[in-house]
Parts: sequence; structure tokens; C-alpha cells
Amino acid sequence: MAARHGGWLAAVSAALLAGCAGMPTTIKPPVAGKLATHLDSAPAQQTLPAIGLIIDDLGEQRAAGERALALPGAVACAFLPHTPHARRQARHARENGHEVLLHLPLEPESPRASPIPTRLNRDSGRPELRRRLDAALDSVPHAAGVNNHQGSLLTQSAAHMDWLMAALRERGSLYFVDSRTTPRSLAYARARAEGVAAAARDVFLDVDADADAVRRQWQRLLRLARRRGSALAIGHPYPSTLEVLERELPRLAAAGVRLVPPSELIRIRGGAVRDPVRLRLADRLAPLVVAAGR
Ligand SMILES: [Zn+2]
Repeated sequence: MAARHGGWLAAVSAALLAGCAGMPTTIKPPVAGKLATHLDSAPAQQTLPAIGLIIDDLGEQRAAGERALALPGAVACAFLPHTPHARRQARHARENGHEVLLHLPLEPESPRASPIPTRLNRDSGRPELRRRLDAALDSVPHAAGVNNHQGSLLTQSAAHMDWLMAALRERGSLYFVDSRTTPRSLAYARARAEGVAAAARDVFLDVDADADAVRRQWQRLLRLARRRGSALAIGHPYPSTLEVLERELPRLAAAGVRLVPPSELIRIRGGAVRDPVRLRLADRLAPLVVAAGR
């Protein structure tokens, strides 16, 4: 983040110095969106309830992806690996200030789910799981974090989740968002136990993709954020979801709620890894948090 704003800060410093020398001091930020990020983090804003919003299943469809990328504010974009548009649209998303996630396919319980050759499965051993994760991460540039696609079966396997989280920790500062495709998911708890910054999804916006249903879920998200201080939603690039978000996101400030990237939401919630003592306490509490969130 600091690096992204380095140019702007340098421009301010240079202009102030120029002002001392009698030069004009009118300063324009390089990109309007980047100034908005500064305002979002102003002290007065930091007490507002916060929401995080991830649009996932991106990478397959070009037009729907571009429409998702054009959403205003800190909407995070999660791309399926090895998909036709993931690489280009992930770069585009990053350039436009959207946080990028790898949307990692994990084995679901449903036998009807279509097989994905690159998915992590229950019969994947640790080396195979690591190889598939690395290949997936390499196919989605700029990923700051990972959330799971499907996974109702594999997220119940403590061993696989431990291997996955250990690999994420080894890869660097990647965070994990548990999409919670089953209330029995262990992913969030195992991420915390392995020392990976993590959060769990609170609201799916469009399990029912009817526009009225999406609007109701959006209102539920705002109520949750006001009650708890923060809330995290996942939506998909469906026409109805995008239509509701295009209408509602510009009204967010007037509703007294701020939109933050998932990394910031994790920090606000204390889900970022800080020190081993805090981690051990969080580890003991995590299963209770997951159970209470059903
Ligand atoms: Zn998905």
C-alpha cells in the first residue's frame, strides 16, 4: 500500500518544497481513485461500520468480469486459476485499485459438481496439493489472498487444511478467506492455527440470484456490519448481482458504511497475525467463532 502511494506522497513533498521556493502549490493526485483510498482511511472514517466484498468465480467470462472490475470502490476480485481471462483481468483489477484473490477450487461434497482437473481433492497428497496450489497462484498475478471455490468436502479435512495453510504461510504474506460453503468448514480455524491471517464469509449475496433476493442480502450485510462493526460478503458476476451493486455501492457512504479490502477487514477484526501469544488465544477461540457463525 505504501509503495502504491509513494509517488503521490513524493509529489506532495516536491510541490511543498516548490511552494517554499515561490512556485505554485496546486497539487493534483495522480489518480482520483487513489485519493479516495486516502479519504477512506481518514480518522473520521475509521469509526464507521466496515464491509468487505469479494466477487468470485471470475476468469471464465470476459464481459461479466469487466463489469465486475468496473464496480466502484474497494471491491475485491477473486479469479479461478487457469481460466482464459484471469491473468489479464487480475492485472487490470490491481491497476484499478481492486484487491486480487486466487479463487482456489477445493473438492465439494456434491457428487454432481463438475470435475475441475486442477482442483485440490481429498486424495491429493501433500506434495500434489502444494504443486497444484503453486500452479494456481502462478496463474493469477498479484493475488493478495485466497478464498475457496466449493470445498464443502475438503474444508472439513483438518490435515488438508493444515497443509494448505502451511503452504500459504510459506509462500509469503497471503491471507485466507473461508467462503464457508459448509458450516462444518475447518478452514478459518486451521488458518489461524497455522499463523495465516484469515476471515470467514458472513453473507452470500446471491445464492438466490433474483434481484430482490440480492437486495435483501445486501441490506442484511449492512445490518450485520452496523451490529458487529464489520461484515464480509461474497457475490458472483451474475447480471442481477452486478446491477444491485452498481446501484447500491455509490450510496454506501450516505448509509454510513465504508467498503474496505479484505486485508483491511481482517486487520480491523484482529484476524491478522500479530504475535504468538495472541495467535494461541485466537486458535483456542476459533472453533467457537465458527460454530457461533452458523
Ligand atoms: Zn466459486
